[in-house]
Amino acid sequence: MFCEKCGAQIPDDAVFCPKCGYKVGQSQGNSGGSPSQGQTVQVVAPPDAQELKCPSCGAPLKPQFGEMVITCEYCGASICLNTNGWKNIEKNSMLPLKIPDQDSLVNVLKGYMDRGLLRRHLEEESKLEQVSLAYIPYWVVTVSARTQYTAVSEASTIGTVAGSVALMSLMGGAMGGRRGMGMGMMDGALMGGMIGGGMGMGGGNLRAYTYDQNYNYPVVAVKGLLEYQPKDFSFNLDERIPFDISKVPKGIKVLNGEIGEDAAKYEAKTYVDQLQSQKVHQQHHMVQKIVTQDDVSDPELIHVPVWFAKFSYKSKEISIVVDGNSGKVINSIGLNEDKKL
Ligand SMILES: [Zn+2]
Ligand SMILES: [Zn+2]
Repeated sequence: MFCEKCGAQIPDDAVFCPKCGYKVGQSQGNSGGSPSQGQTVQVVAPPDAQELKCPSCGAPLKPQFGEMVITCEYCGASICLNTNGWKNIEKNSMLPLKIPDQDSLVNVLKGYMDRGLLRRHLEEESKLEQVSLAYIPYWVVTVSARTQYTAVSEASTIGTVAGSVALMSLMGGAMGGRRGMGMGMMDGALMGGMIGGGMGMGGGNLRAYTYDQNYNYPVVAVKGLLEYQPKDFSFNLDERIPFDISKVPKGIKVLNGEIGEDAAKYEAKTYVDQLQSQKVHQQHHMVQKIVTQDDVSDPELIHVPVWFAKFSYKSKEISIVVDGNSGKVINSIGLNEDKKL
């Protein structure tokens, strides 16, 4: 079949158009489906509403202070707050849970340890303190980034190391000017690479480069989980299905969020600019005049089953966040602070 919005040829069973993200089949009505699904009822309510009616099932929704993304616990419809008040989120999908229980999670983490991605000591000497699973709302923002910069062309970088001190201070200044993300780790890695590379300052040929990259950037919608915000991570969007609360296993919470669409777009752009800069610096020395332009789409909401595992190791606490769909580690906290771990 063909996408009704952009005309691309897509698989007959596609739920979303892989090209433009349009939710296929929403305008032709569901044949035989439940009548409450697939309708695009707009919720129009003042932004400060303390009680709303679910657009699909009419159940009362009570936004807590600060909440901007709410999922109806009866029917699974989601609404979000923007400048015009509350509105129904049409592009609302979920990823199926594939790591169904704690044993499966422990196996996944052991797999990481066996491959050396998490340190083995963790398994031997640490204690699993706490495990939880919830469906977390993320905004997925499609960002097409074009980064233009000049850098010393490859041939001329085989020089002496004499310039590295000057270079370091120069780079240090440049990097200090980036957005305050508090990611000292990244700068450190970058510096290490620079010194090892052996840089020649004098007489390099500056060349113009362009680095294009598309991202489906996930921005966590829950403020309390901002420290677990993915940095360079993509969910397996091929597996997403329309959000259906009956597919959320019993007893697993579906969280609401406090981060709205506009903030998500801004965050995604900020993170992407930073990633682009990071990747460019990995590819080239002496990067100058770096400018990134982004094309940022309207986000869609995706609910992802996420495992949080807390370990104690000596006196430390280590948190590992795992995508319950793909089994990939989204983030870990406390691991990088001690290199000897
Ligand atoms: Zn399309
Ligand atoms: Zn509802």
